[in-house]
Amino acid sequence: MTHAARFDFDLMVIGGGSAGLTAAHLAAGAGRKVALVEKERTGGECLYTGCVPSKTLLHLAGEVWSARRAARYGLKSEGRADWSAVKARLREVIAKIAPQDSPKALEQAGVKVIQGEGRFVSPHTLEVGGTVYRARGFLLATGARPHVPDALEGLPYHTPESIFDLETLPEHLAILGGGAVAVELAQAFVRLGSRVTILARGDRLVSRFEPEVSRLLRVVLEREGVQVRLRSEVLSGRVTAGGLELNLKNDAPLEVSHLLVAAGKRPRVQNLGLEILGAEFYESGLKTDPVGRSSCPYLWGAGDVLGRDLYTHAAGEEAILSVLSSLKLGVLARWRAPQRETYPKALFTDPEVAAFGPSESEARARNTQIQVLEYPFSKLDRARTDGSEEGFVKLIMSAGKLSPRLLGATVVGPRAAELLLSLELMVAAHVHPLKLASPTPAYPSYAEALRYAVMGLYSSSETFGTRR
Ligand SMILES: Cc1cc2nc3c(=O)[nH]c(=O)nc-3n(C[C@H](O)[C@H](O)[C@H](O)COP(=O)(O)OP(=O)(O)OC[C@H]3O[C@@H](n4cnc5c(N)ncnc54)[C@H](O)[C@@H]3O)c2cc1C
Repeated sequence: MTHAARFDFDLMVIGGGSAGLTAAHLAAGAGRKVALVEKERTGGECLYTGCVPSKTLLHLAGEVWSARRAARYGLKSEGRADWSAVKARLREVIAKIAPQDSPKALEQAGVKVIQGEGRFVSPHTLEVGGTVYRARGFLLATGARPHVPDALEGLPYHTPESIFDLETLPEHLAILGGGAVAVELAQAFVRLGSRVTILARGDRLVSRFEPEVSRLLRVVLEREGVQVRLRSEVLSGRVTAGGLELNLKNDAPLEVSHLLVAAGKRPRVQNLGLEILGAEFYESGLKTDPVGRSSCPYLWGAGDVLGRDLYTHAAGEEAILSVLSSLKLGVLARWRAPQRETYPKALFTDPEVAAFGPSESEARARNTQIQVLEYPFSKLDRARTDGSEEGFVKLIMSAGKLSPRLLGATVVGPRAAELLLSLELMVAAHVHPLKLASPTPAYPSYAEALRYAVMGLYSSSETFGTRR
């Protein structure tokens, strides 16, 4: 028997979410014999219960909000949400995107799609629904499941997996958690007309971002009617006629109609037979090297199952690294890998927030000599015309004026995630800050803010960013 004949596939991808889809398409495109195993539906969390429905919901909530807010400018509009129309729109957008993630699209790309739950039964061997398959290599892309604290056992709660299917708009929604999912959905539901209370364990919201982002978002959410309770913990709860009552640590009980748990995730590493492969894994995720290879030489991992950067774009990038590495193009993968430091993270709230690299305090803790440039949107004409003056740009740069390097950045304001890309490019292409200031941004545009922020390095004029 030839070496190739011993294997049914060159690569078997387990999980058809953001990571698995990218990996399967890439490996098949490189001429490998690829299978993708999916136990539910290809598209995964991002398409059905994550990015797509949440961004659609935020967009609709923004429309309702703008209509209601138009009164501020003397314009008349009602601004009220019809939940069944909202749900219909969520389904419509998902249906628009689903074909590109479908089994049909995968098969057309040359990927064999196997429906069922995969589990390793011996080295190089995966069992799916009673059939065993042998492959030269495997990519684990099984994602992560929502983490639900023990105190909620027996209570009716929602997670992002069920919240978009609610029968009615919640009258009073409690959201457990203070991270990206919690703040985005808090803003969406309050704008749609629910009462919303955030119960967050930490002492600030979105603690992975700069403290000024946490402060601003709290102000914005509270102004829109969200109650934010920090250092909060649910000890127990009980079902009531109107929903449920939550007993909180150091706080009065809270009665709400619905509870959404957005308190983190747990990578899906259990019951997969990873022990049989000798792959090292923990509750926090599959352990891999920087290019995605696990301690089993023929198992790679990508996406939420690694428990690191829980974003679709990180899942896609990790999938690329893993596939390159499995194709014996590890050199190329290692060359790309350092970009992980600059993976962006975003909050699609209003104002939008996007950031990469170390925060100011992280950079200082690394003992790096840094300088910080800040440019507030209150000085930017486009922000003035749009009434979005709360935004800002904050750049963390290495010390010196001659050849400072951009280490990290935070942009807050409309389309912040788009603006951030110029700054990411500056790092990836080793662009000198002055070059960022040289192309002419259209007036009045948000892009001017980047130029003005950078100019703060060289001028103390009021027009530009401040440097400290
Ligand atoms: C409300 C919400 C909003 C979000 N918004 C954003 C956003 O705006 N931007 C962003 O970048 N990220 C966002 N995310 C995060 C993003 O959804 C995830 O990081 C991303 O989907 C992870 O992709 P993945 O491929 O690792 O996992 P998943 O998409 O979870 O895919 C894993 C797949 O594996 C399958 N599977 C599991 N076990 C097995 C098995 N044994 N056999 C076969 N199949 C199996 C599952 O059925 C699933 O389809 C959001 C998440 C949530 C919850």
